[in-house]
Amino acid sequence: MSGLKPEASPHTRENSATESSQFPPEDRPDEIWMEEALRCAQRALEAGEVPVGAVVVRNGQVVGRGWNRNITDSDPTAHAEVIALREAGATVGNHRLEHCELFVTIEPCAMCAGALTHARVKRLVYGSDDPKAGAVKSVLQVLNHPQLNHKIEVRSGVLAGRSAELLQSFFRSRR
Ligand SMILES: [Zn+2]
Repeated sequence: MSGLKPEASPHTRENSATESSQFPPEDRPDEIWMEEALRCAQRALEAGEVPVGAVVVRNGQVVGRGWNRNITDSDPTAHAEVIALREAGATVGNHRLEHCELFVTIEPCAMCAGALTHARVKRLVYGSDDPKAGAVKSVLQVLNHPQLNHKIEVRSGVLAGRSAELLQSFFRSRR
């Protein structure tokens, strides 16, 4: 699938410290993949959707990407994470994504946290917290709930300012 290659985007910012070519794919820092997720969020913004983007990475390669498509698809479940997980499942040929990491620009909601658990994703990296709907720590603690067997390693706050900025510009433009 051609869409799986990192894309050049006019919105890419100069940032030589995290230039992806400096790192072998499996050693790329989280910020590189978060840049990819931010590019996905930008696609949502351009489509008039809430700008959230996600990528699924396996062995240093993007195997799924998604951005919010709720309005476009008239689909209440079309969150960036769900779309990225669906694409990853199809790419990998397995509904279990045990060796995968998911990078998303904001804290996942309860639905997406549930989907991450069902998918057995190994690690979640997200940008800004979502004080309204976050289900990792902010509102609910669905992910890594003590009564769930599957535990997911979590890192938050990666390029958080950038994702918050995107969301703010979206909500400002709608006022
Ligand atoms: Zn969600």
